[in-house]
Amino acid sequence: MELLAQLTRLAGPRWIEIEATALEHNLRAVKGLLQPSTRLLAVIKADAYGAGAVEAARIFLAAGAEYLGVTTLAEGRELRQAGITAPILLMSPLLPEELPSAIEQDLTLTVSSRSGAEAVGAAAAMAGRQARVHLKVETGLQRTGLEPAEVVPLAREMLAWPGVAVEGLYSHLAEAARPAAARRQLECFMRVLQELAAQQITIPFKHICNSTGLLLHPEMHLDLVRAGTLLYGQFPYQAPRRGLTLKDPWRFKTRILFIHEVGPGTPVGYGGDYIVKKATRLAVIPVGYADGFALTPVSRPKNLSDLARYLVKTVLAYLGRGGGEGTAAYVAGQRAPVVGRVGMQLSIIDVGHMAGVKVGQVIELDLRRPTAGSRLPRVYCRAGRPYLMRTTAGEWLAVVRPDRQNFVPQAGI
Ligand SMILES: *Cc1c(COP(=O)(O)O)cnc(C)c1O
Repeated sequence: MELLAQLTRLAGPRWIEIEATALEHNLRAVKGLLQPSTRLLAVIKADAYGAGAVEAARIFLAAGAEYLGVTTLAEGRELRQAGITAPILLMSPLLPEELPSAIEQDLTLTVSSRSGAEAVGAAAAMAGRQARVHLKVETGLQRTGLEPAEVVPLAREMLAWPGVAVEGLYSHLAEAARPAAARRQLECFMRVLQELAAQQITIPFKHICNSTGLLLHPEMHLDLVRAGTLLYGQFPYQAPRRGLTLKDPWRFKTRILFIHEVGPGTPVGYGGDYIVKKATRLAVIPVGYADGFALTPVSRPKNLSDLARYLVKTVLAYLGRGGGEGTAAYVAGQRAPVVGRVGMQLSIIDVGHMAGVKVGQVIELDLRRPTAGSRLPRVYCRAGRPYLMRTTAGEWLAVVRPDRQNFVPQAGI
């Protein structure tokens, strides 16, 4: 069967394509910025920033990542169930009820408090297995972490606990782009490291850099860096590029379901608040806000220039000049505006200015990555050729006969 028909039969008329060679390129490019002694932890939390965690993890490990990082127990478990044996750091404290499962799956735990440490010690003793932990230090984010003064006494105590291996010590930057604040956090972290060294306490992995930190502070790469954003092909806001070139692995595609003609003055969509100016053709696509399409997170403006930016954007959007995500589709590379309100699962685009647009035609859309619906299929490609798909139901299907493009359930996932 033809590839597009096969894909649509299995995935439905919308999917996200992830180009494996772009992820590999980005990982190698980031590694190229590190000293040979610095390890790379690939952050694949939030379903690999929307890319699909299991396959992204495999690609990063094969390309040279030494550690993986996730936030929740369920994310760690998904990777273990897929047969991934590499070390995985859970970058958040867990509740005591979650600890036995995490230890059984050999996930590296984050300890952010003395009581958390004691719970891990007790759970490890119950399980009769060793728990690997990284201590997290509070240096300024005020999310989770030990107070700096707590670290040395607790670390010294924990080194004597039989069931616990203190493998790492880390902190997280609140706003790596604000140099003075980041500098204070880095200094605070360094003071803790110096105290440990003075007490001859050795902890193998000391780490503080995320993507922004690793670009801004090469001197702070230490034993390990935790990179997410860069691996997925995006530069963090206001960070230097350090000669890095990144590739975008991400394409969101859908197929036109329906086309019809409308005359001038026709109100379109819910509320009828879009009025057609001159006769045109509208195309309907099976994509809406339930998929994360056209959603823009708005945080409260923090100062006057934030507020001014927000007002300008809102006024431009009102005038139909907004260039933001979810405002346009691309049909054979040409821009087609999204008109009317975006629905829960259907949207309307104006294709009146384009010749030869047909039902079934593939079009591309912008979609904010971490908010992309988890039930949108992910189609992994290599040099543009699909080889693996995660369906709406979460099942991974692999292409076993590239000549026939036949997808079959992949064993071990
Ligand atoms: C998300 C996260 C990272 C990665 O951040 P990027 O800016 O995407 O590189 C690193 N460390 C922790 C603790 C995180 O939660």
